Amino acid sequence: MISTDISKAADLLKAGEVIGLPTETVYGLAGNIFNETAIRKIFSVKQRPFYNPLIVHLAGIDRLDQVAKGIPGIAIKLAEKFWPGPLTLLLQKQSAVPDLVTAGKTTVAVRVPDHRLALALLKRIDFPLAAPSANPFGCISPTTAKHVDDYFGDNIPLVLDGGPCRNGVESTIIGFNDGEAILYRHGAIPMEEIEKITGKLKVYVKEENAPDAPGMLSKHYSPRTPTILTDNIQQVLKEHAGKKMALLLFNKKRNEYDPALQWVLSPGSRLEEAASNLYAMLHTLDELKVDLIICEKMKEEGLGITMNDRLVRASVESLI
Ligand code: AMP
Ligand code: MG
Repeated sequence: MISTDISKAADLLKAGEVIGLPTETVYGLAGNIFNETAIRKIFSVKQRPFYNPLIVHLAGIDRLDQVAKGIPGIAIKLAEKFWPGPLTLLLQKQSAVPDLVTAGKTTVAVRVPDHRLALALLKRIDFPLAAPSANPFGCISPTTAKHVDDYFGDNIPLVLDGGPCRNGVESTIIGFNDGEAILYRHGAIPMEEIEKITGKLKVYVKEENAPDAPGMLSKHYSPRTPTILTDNIQQVLKEHAGKKMALLLFNKKRNEYDPALQWVLSPGSRLEEAASNLYAMLHTLDELKVDLIICEKMKEEGLGITMNDRLVRASVESLI
């Protein structure tokens, strides 16, 4: 059920239930980190493998000690600058944080969401919320309450409706090694913004078949429709002539194809706007039941890097 009732959401969470949670990035599937039944339900509803750890959401930086310890100075600086906001920090976990939440890791992923309803809810409860994106494992992330309801229906008792997500892509994830910041996942805060505080960031490269940050799995965020990412739309259209195709474009439609089958992410050429529309448009295109979705590659800068990262994963098995 879709609702805006925060007290009901709080009661359900206190009772060990799992709910859909609006945030500024994407909707989460939220449960009490200290309630094993709730955490197991998150994994089973999402069909998420247990090796994939969950992000813990806090009401404020003042509650950080509840879940993390030995926090490097640079992490505090980043938290002070970007929280509430779409930055997730990987920190040494307190022993009270269940291994199920961190997939047995000694680090816990934490952030403070920048969303009025999420913060109001977190302030009403005295436990943090584990909340991975509210999509079945591997599918497109949800950016509206309806996306969550369409995915899970009666499998969860409530989706808290906080409107469409402002940022529309997942948080940027930063970890630390000997006090040095490392980028684990591109996200809603461009790495250039973070580098203003950390200096040049190292980018974490996962070992083959060791998916310890599965937002980094090669196939993820995927429509069911075969999807191609390209910087040469014209050529792909030509190669697949005769098929029914839908185009996802950055800032303008193309003359050589049916305008009714073209979607524009940002008519004003703004990457923020494009990112906030990305998943909602992919959901729409996926529902058209076309033969092929063709996405235009973004500029490799700022949020364009994040969007290309997601689109590569959406399209990786569909390149033909
Ligand atoms: P999502 O479930 O879509 O919110 O994505 C959560 C992301 O955070 C996944 O890519 C996780 O693998 C990553 N993550 C969470 N905790 C950790 C951790 N301790 N170390 C590395 N990555 C983590
Ligand atoms: Mg996810």
